[in-house]
Amino acid sequence: MTEELRKKAAEMLLNGATLLSEPCPYCKGVRVMKEGQALCTKCGRAPEKRKIVTEEKEVKNKNPLKNTLDKKLEILSKELERETDHDKQQSILKSINLVLEMMEKIKKQ
Ligand SMILES: [Zn+2]
Repeated sequence: MTEELRKKAAEMLLNGATLLSEPCPYCKGVRVMKEGQALCTKCGRAPEKRKIVTEEKEVKNKNPLKNTLDKKLEILSKELERETDHDKQQSILKSINLVLEMMEKIKKQ
């Protein structure tokens, strides 16, 4: 721990920061946390949580199958609304079920 980091960590603790129970992901050092910002007292790195969240969102938007399923579900629900024939309603419902199952599978990936 450098003198500068020691001072900064002490300052943060005095200003209401708390010690994190999880060690630093880079060096396993002790981290202090204040206002969502975690600072490692050993290597001085402060990983930003925000970056991770945006990356996850981008991955979700890039899944073309998810978009196709969304559209399919919309079409199917409109068909179901218009359909008066009981047998056809049943088959539309089966298709909706399959689409929903598929969506669940994508979510778990
Ligand atoms: Zn560290």
